[in-house]
Amino acid sequence: MSIAAAKTLAGVVGWPVHQSLSPLLHGFWLREHGITGAYVALPVKTIAFSSVVTGLRAAGFAGVNVTIPHKQAAFAIADGCDDAARVAAAANLLVFKDERIEARNTDIAGLKASLVEAIGPDALRARNIVIIGAGGGARAAVLACDALEAAGIYILNRTDRRVAALIHDLAGSTTAKLHAGGLDAWPNLAPDAALFIHATSAGMNGAPSLDLDLRLLPPGAAVCDLVYRPLETAILARARELSLRAIDGLGMLMHQAVPAFEAFYGIRPEVTPALRAELEQALRE
Ligand code: NAP
Repeated sequence: MSIAAAKTLAGVVGWPVHQSLSPLLHGFWLREHGITGAYVALPVKTIAFSSVVTGLRAAGFAGVNVTIPHKQAAFAIADGCDDAARVAAAANLLVFKDERIEARNTDIAGLKASLVEAIGPDALRARNIVIIGAGGGARAAVLACDALEAAGIYILNRTDRRVAALIHDLAGSTTAKLHAGGLDAWPNLAPDAALFIHATSAGMNGAPSLDLDLRLLPPGAAVCDLVYRPLETAILARARELSLRAIDGLGMLMHQAVPAFEAFYGIRPEVTPALRAELEQALRE
């Protein structure tokens, strides 16, 4: 269907955004449900973010997804937000409703759904988790693991400042106990971790991966990599070699899009093997 014929418009705002899988993902569901809508990638620099959002709302868009580097600005621009966006102080979804901009954060629910799909709803209860990275993805990971009732969450980062800010912002909102550390704490913490989440941008698009000894994880531990370009990261390949459970970043990406699609087009779509196959094909090309 041509964009000119589309009744409901939505998109993803980011910089850069040409690499985003969101148009393909939402396009799949638009076709599947026969909806006369369109979903477009909108490359927007930081300086133009707020004027573009105001313009899209005035132009009748139903809303937009927001990606790097605008997630904090999206939270700040909104007239109201859901609990997840408030706790994360970041939003990946803006819904335009009755002259208002509502900020939501669906990354947390997206990762939680992906983890539940892979290891079940109780696998993290009262267990310890290690997360490496302290950016937006790590924040979502902390809140997803807290929602799955983890006991202790150890957040290790290359530099101190960002991990200290994460603990400062999130510790009051979690039941799990949060601990900060450097990457050198890995050998002490890995043996007791039920789950390791890699949440740095190392290993993306051919960049060198972190050098971690995954043999230190206990048998039966799960390893989740938020990076999905490449889909099979060096960390996931090593986890599989060691017979650890490997969870890729595509699950989080697909599940975070479910509530966004529902907010834009009024139908709750499903994450299916056919959707995954289409996205995997795009990642291979
Ligand atoms: P971000 O806010 O820019 O944070 C990047 C993090 O990576 C920081 O903690 C940074 O450490 C660390 N880092 C970068 N290069 C490193 C290196 N060479 N060695 C050690 N640490 C390094 O990024 P983000 O938004 O959290 O995203 C992180 C990754 O998660 C990206 O690959 C992104 O695509 C992915 N992600 C995936 C999904 C999904 O749906 N699957 C959702 C969100 C994010 P410093 O603080 O020391 O700089």
